[in-house]
Amino acid sequence: MGITCRLRPDRGAYNGGVADPRVVVLASGSAGNAVWLEAGGTAVLVDAGLSAEALLRRMAQAGCSSEALAAVLLTHEHDDHARGAAALARAVGVPVLANEATLRACGLDRGVPCERIANLQPFRVGAWTVEAVPVPHDAADPVAFVLEAAGTRVAVATDLGDVGEVLVERAFGSDVVLLEANYDLRLLGVSPYPWFVKNRILGRYGHLSNDGAAAAAVRLHAGRPQRFVLLHVSEVNNLAPLARDVVAGALDRHGVAAEVQVVRPNQTAAVSLAGRR
Ligand SMILES: [Zn+2]
Repeated sequence: MGITCRLRPDRGAYNGGVADPRVVVLASGSAGNAVWLEAGGTAVLVDAGLSAEALLRRMAQAGCSSEALAAVLLTHEHDDHARGAAALARAVGVPVLANEATLRACGLDRGVPCERIANLQPFRVGAWTVEAVPVPHDAADPVAFVLEAAGTRVAVATDLGDVGEVLVERAFGSDVVLLEANYDLRLLGVSPYPWFVKNRILGRYGHLSNDGAAAAAVRLHAGRPQRFVLLHVSEVNNLAPLARDVVAGALDRHGVAAEVQVVRPNQTAAVSLAGRR
């Protein structure tokens, strides 16, 4: 049984919002992560890893109206994903949605409206049907999200050490896959990071490499037009053009004609949904 998020009466059907699905990466990388998804007048924000002020500023700059925002969804409690969640939820008057372990790990105060969701149990937020899919990462109960509205399916999978069968099954064939491409193995090897940090990044509960993202993209491809958007690209251990080349090259070798877009660290970028059908 899924749950339906209790939207405020004036949320979820904002007339000034966009009807067609729209995806905007407001921030990506170790300094902060947030992805805006809007359809049918309802927007959700996946992660809120900048301050509330910075998020509201970027939303305004990108033409994302806070009036349309219905909920903040959290993948996990790490600061670069959850930093601004409580303040933004309070400022806009929307709930923070996350699984129980993540809500607890975030230590949200009582004044913050929040709702518990369960992994692998789809729930609705306005026009969106959302499913949280567990992923391996060094947090309390980290998830990726697969969201669908108006026939468009979007997967958001950042901060994961590995792409498992369940995620592939749930996200397979998504029109847009926002996927972590955190590091290049050689650049990580020569980076100034201490060895224990490198081991954490490399481990099953760490982050996804360019090669890992490439393998995942090949597995998630369903033989029709799809767009892969690479996020959480490290400024120290990766290069945006390299991440793009590795993933696009792997798709190419498998005869897959998919668009690959890379979002540079701390960049705001609209994701093109043109030609997705
Ligand atoms: Zn994390």
